[in-house]
Amino acid sequence: MAQALMEIIRIPAIAPENLGEGELRKAEKLTHILEAIGFDEIKRFDAEDERVPSKKRPNIIAYYYGENKAEKLWIITHLDVVPPGEDSLWTITKPFEPTIKEEQIYGRGSEDNGQSMIASIFAIEALKNLSIRPKRTVALAFVADEEQGSKYGIQHLIKQGLFNKDDLIVVPDGGNENGSFIEIAEKSALWLRVRTIGRQAHASRPDKGLNAHRIGMEYALALDKMLHAKYSLKDEYFDPPESTFEPTKKDKNVDAVNIVPGEDITCFDCRVLPNYDIEEVLNDIHGLAEEFEKKTGAIIKIEVLQKSVAPKPTDANSKIVIMLKEAIKQVREVEPKIGGIGGGTCAAFFRKIGVPAVVWCTIDETAHQPNEYAKIENLANDAKIYAFLTIS
Ligand SMILES: [Zn+2]
Repeated sequence: MAQALMEIIRIPAIAPENLGEGELRKAEKLTHILEAIGFDEIKRFDAEDERVPSKKRPNIIAYYYGENKAEKLWIITHLDVVPPGEDSLWTITKPFEPTIKEEQIYGRGSEDNGQSMIASIFAIEALKNLSIRPKRTVALAFVADEEQGSKYGIQHLIKQGLFNKDDLIVVPDGGNENGSFIEIAEKSALWLRVRTIGRQAHASRPDKGLNAHRIGMEYALALDKMLHAKYSLKDEYFDPPESTFEPTKKDKNVDAVNIVPGEDITCFDCRVLPNYDIEEVLNDIHGLAEEFEKKTGAIIKIEVLQKSVAPKPTDANSKIVIMLKEAIKQVREVEPKIGGIGGGTCAAFFRKIGVPAVVWCTIDETAHQPNEYAKIENLANDAKIYAFLTIS
């Protein structure tokens, strides 16, 4: 498993947005590994993309048939990796020259998402070697474009009509150190820049100006209070359990102490529980800004820097959640906990179409960082969980 993971890491699969060539070479390497294991069927679903040399963004599905062919257990991992970032920060090895140190495999894409990819493949190899047929067909999907929005990856596969409401979906692309955390929900994200425009003046004559800094602060505090009061619901699945509304970045205004600022900029990072409509939140933000404009004569502009709407959470009592909880208890002997975190994986696209999906794997969360690594014991132990799922 370690050798296979290292072979995969050696081939960069970077998106054209980051000036990469895409995933084709890596997909071809992976196909050789899959063919050697002997799946029942391997299919390609390429998405066309003019921006990469091959014009193709590859998606592979490897099937291992079960007793019941109609029902499927999907394990979905992504081929693409993020760029290595600052070279000098890679102190253990170069990003695409994997190495093993203290039972950890270092390299870009080792944890995200190579570990889960290899673990899912070798879980099937183990079943084959033991002549075990799974209860339902197992479909391993290896998708492109996860890091840049999944248009050429999982969204392309969903468009082909490959998924049913009864399918069981595992996306091993997030988790915690002991493998006890099952993610079933995510918060919506809303990032804002609040720009308050008044009138600059000498600080000895504030009556001649309109202090944008004071009005900006008053608005930010009022907004902070209003949002926390109105959107106060708690959901214990999440950590923290409530929506968060944080004033964060503060842009510089004037150069001297004796100037009344004519402009003031404060940014907000809001993470909103999926129970709330993000458009309603945004309306309230605009409403309060208008109130302040009338009251003060300043202009308050709200710019949305990022907005991602969380889909409805996966039902905590859905079959895949129950099966995975049982697998974790039996194989790991830890108490599984279900919850919600950041989000932004392939699972969100399944939740959007009402197919229950869980995010789970065992990782130290080194993804997207220099010196990214995967623990060899996690490779093996996560494979055991996948194998257990196929026969439960
Ligand atoms: Zn990932």
